[in-house]
Amino acid sequence: MSGTQPSAIRPTLTRWLRDRSFLSGLAALLILMAVLGTVMRHNYLLFHLCVELFAVAISMTIFTIAWNTRDTNQSPFLAFVGLSMPGIALLDLLHAIAFPGMNVIGEASPNQSTQLWIAARGLQAAVFLAAPLLTEKRLRAGDVLLIQAAVVACTLLSIFTFRIMPDSFVPGVGLTAFKVGAEYTFSAAAVVACLLLWRKRRQFEPRVFGLTFAGIALLAPQELIFTLYTDPHGPMNALGHFIKILSFYLLYRAIIVTALQNPYDLAFYRMRRSEEALRDHLSGLESLIATRTAELRESEARWRALLECSNDWFWETDERGRFTALSPRVQESTGRGGAELLGFTHADLLDRNRPEEDFPALTEALHRREPFRRLSFPLASPGGSARWVMVSGTPRYDGNGTFLGYRGTTSDISARRQSAEAARQKQTMAALGSLVGGLAHEINNLLQPVISLSDLARGRAGEDRKLHAYLNAIHDSGVKARTIMRDVLQFARVEVAESPPGNLEEAVHSALELAASSMPVSIEMHTRLEPGLNAVTITATELTQVLLNLIQNARDAMPQGGTLTIDARSLSLKERDASLRQLSEGDYVRLTVADTGTGMDEATRQRVFDPFFTTKPVGKGTGLGLSVVYGIVRNGGGDILVESTLGRGTSFIIDLPTAPTGGPGQTTHGMLVHGEGVGR
Ligand code: ADP
Ligand code: MG
Repeated sequence: MSGTQPSAIRPTLTRWLRDRSFLSGLAALLILMAVLGTVMRHNYLLFHLCVELFAVAISMTIFTIAWNTRDTNQSPFLAFVGLSMPGIALLDLLHAIAFPGMNVIGEASPNQSTQLWIAARGLQAAVFLAAPLLTEKRLRAGDVLLIQAAVVACTLLSIFTFRIMPDSFVPGVGLTAFKVGAEYTFSAAAVVACLLLWRKRRQFEPRVFGLTFAGIALLAPQELIFTLYTDPHGPMNALGHFIKILSFYLLYRAIIVTALQNPYDLAFYRMRRSEEALRDHLSGLESLIATRTAELRESEARWRALLECSNDWFWETDERGRFTALSPRVQESTGRGGAELLGFTHADLLDRNRPEEDFPALTEALHRREPFRRLSFPLASPGGSARWVMVSGTPRYDGNGTFLGYRGTTSDISARRQSAEAARQKQTMAALGSLVGGLAHEINNLLQPVISLSDLARGRAGEDRKLHAYLNAIHDSGVKARTIMRDVLQFARVEVAESPPGNLEEAVHSALELAASSMPVSIEMHTRLEPGLNAVTITATELTQVLLNLIQNARDAMPQGGTLTIDARSLSLKERDASLRQLSEGDYVRLTVADTGTGMDEATRQRVFDPFFTTKPVGKGTGLGLSVVYGIVRNGGGDILVESTLGRGTSFIIDLPTAPTGGPGQTTHGMLVHGEGVGR
């Protein structure tokens, strides 16, 4: 702001020099001064009278203007100065007519004339000291006149009636110390008034300020000059009077400009100033907003980056638990984009076909508006494949403490769950495998004599039909038991067998052939085998056994008939999918056996591979079929998955690594059981 100030003076000067009325006024003034100078040389008394009358005339003109524009004048400062002029003018007039030699006032003396001069200058100094304090506050015109009248009256009484004012001029001696001291004081007062005015300069239009400032500033040298004369008719006295005229003229110009020439300019000038102040304030605000916006943008970018590299998804709900925002990752788990899920609730994400797990706790926490952490529940997912999520959230409130909803994160824990499940299964299998393997071996040994000796006994039973029937039953049971034991040993086998890799097509056909006799006509069979499939890492016999077990189970699950589909295609597992399935990356053959039977619930689904787990009546099921399948597939480096919907059907999905072509036969490793004495 202050930076604009020094330059305010310079344009003022150039404006004055361009202002015709100012220049013509100045020219007239100079001509007047030249005329007065000539008069002075011939008659000092007349000169003095002219000067003082001229000053009085200007004072009264200023007053007239100030009085008539007292309500509209834009400058309370100039209004106050103008209204104070009559007092000064009256004292100046009295000073002029009491001047030595005038003889208008009977007993007037040079002393009284000088005292009147001092009084006029004192009043003038007081006015200029007070005026800068009144740049904003407007005094009532009547009050100004009243105070002035009182001051002038007191002054006149003190000079003429009570004669208590100190002497100012002693004829023959000159100026008294009082007069000189007073002039110094007024000179200093003019300097102080200028300083006060300078501090208020911003409330003036630059040209008005320049004129006023110059008019008051001239008083300082003027008063000093009036300390220097000894003869009231001398040249110093004359010079002081010339300066006085100039000073009054400048003030006159200032009030003419303010009140008459362009009061509207001044009004607009004030408006412009406040507008500028407003604009400064606004630009300050704008830069503040810009800074804040940049800060916000950076923080947003940071959060966005975090959001994008996180595997979790973030969400926000309204007070009724409906999603109002979801981050893009949600798509990977639910198969639906964030925008699609807006308005959904957590309950809409729940898979109702599986155990709810922590979902009731989640509902409870949401209901109570409490924060919750790491609550898991099954997620309804597009393909129906099992997915689980773990969710944490915290309630959010506005500044007034009003509940707005929740904000939280959700992690997809399906992969973790699946691998944990697989690990558990593997462990169970290993433990059971060693137990069952040992047991089966022992029982197998014991069954051997039951079968062979019952057979021998049949030969010696002769004609006894009943005995024949008994021995037949013993023999058949023995054979059945041995078949079961063989399955058990297959599941827990340890032997290392060299055999050619299995050809899928052949295996499917031989399995179907074997199963055909027990397959009711109500079951429709479809096989879709991709042509030219690679051989897989398990033997043809094993492959047939796997298929036979799956086909038999499918048949059992479709007592009312249905469709059985066997599907095989080649598949290349990428790193991510492979790690999810606990397989190594590479080429696989995917074999799917699907039925449209009874399906199973989640609890059954999780246990199907457990040895001896069966839901079939005693005598019908052994619960070993799928354990054997599992053992074969895992030993071959593959993986088996089951997907099932109650009432809809079941699919077993087997991924088997393709056998290296041209190499020797595949080696199968006993993964599950190690140790001697275990085998067929
Ligand atoms: P088993 O057939 O002797 O019962 P499995 O190990 O072959 O033994 O199967 C175990 C259990 O898995 C079955 O009892 C049945 O409940 C379930 N199961 C297997 N396959 C199917 C299927 N295709 N549809 C429905 N349930 C099945
Ligand atoms: Mg079975």
